[in-house]
Amino acid sequence: EAKRLGDGRPQFFQQAQEDELEERLTLERELRHAIDHDELRLYLQAQVNEAGNTIGAEALVRWQHPERGMISPGHFIPLAEQTGLILPLGDWVLKEGCRLLGEWRQDPRLQHVKLSLNVSVRQFQQPDFADQVMTVVAAYGAPPERLTLELTESLLLSDPEGTINKMKTLRHLGVSFALDDFGTGYSSLAYLKLLPLDTLKIDIAFVRDLTLDMQAKPIAATIIALAESLGLGIIAEGVETDDQRLVLVNLGCHLFQGFLFDRPAPALDFVKALSADHVA
Ligand code: C2E
Ligand code: MG
Ligand code: MG
Ligand code: MG
Repeated sequence: EAKRLGDGRPQFFQQAQEDELEERLTLERELRHAIDHDELRLYLQAQVNEAGNTIGAEALVRWQHPERGMISPGHFIPLAEQTGLILPLGDWVLKEGCRLLGEWRQDPRLQHVKLSLNVSVRQFQQPDFADQVMTVVAAYGAPPERLTLELTESLLLSDPEGTINKMKTLRHLGVSFALDDFGTGYSSLAYLKLLPLDTLKIDIAFVRDLTLDMQAKPIAATIIALAESLGLGIIAEGVETDDQRLVLVNLGCHLFQGFLFDRPAPALDFVKALSADHVA
């Protein structure tokens, strides 16, 4: 029989909780170290138009852990959000992204490629976020009109006015905004109308089921129609098959991202693939 604690729970529950806390603390310590010791990597995934040309890329962070190997953001972004490490992490992503954009200016193959960076709510809500972006953009000579920031609907829950003001300041500079994972959050259509956005990203959840599920197609059609009526661009995430791509084209979506085109890869590989396309 399991030994009982004062509160009546078997002791193995407490042990499991302690192990979990221990693991989280280890990961937190290691992540803090990783941010300062060059263990983060920006992977890039192409954003492609109907003709198959790469018009942009989304930067997706990875953690090159010395023992655990390459770790996906799903495993450390939530922890980073909880611990506040998302601020130095987000700062690293912003700098690395702007460094790439600055570098790309010198390269005729890359001069037209835009770069999207994911920005977490906590990062965006810093009062001086717009200033930070302007400083980093200037420091790396990144063309702001080639920088897109991806935000999520949850931003609107707490501080719609502050959000709109920061977006306006940055848009004035030339920066674009995309609303990520659209359709999975709770943003009211009234707020959506107020946001100075450029693009809606259709969440992978609606793309995945597009050719299987009777519900997914009308939902995707509605999101695309909504984007049109608000004068916004639309891009579909997680496009894996040509059938999905065709359905999207028929619904009026002409920009795509997904494994059908490429998987997120180190910046150098992304650039190499781009040059190969141009030769073909
Ligand atoms: P997201 O911004 O919605 O990124 C799209 C995710 O879908 C990426 O996962 C990408 O690798 C994956 N994906 C792309 N195409 C396909 C496909 O065809 N099929 C499937 N099944 N998946 C596809 P990833 O790289 O694991 O990133 C997960 C999430 O982590 C991102 O979702 C974003 O919310 C967050 N994230 C990634 N990088 C950053 C970052 O630099 N900063 C912040 N704050 N969050 C980030
Ligand atoms: Mg994104
Ligand atoms: Mg997304
Ligand atoms: Mg997502």
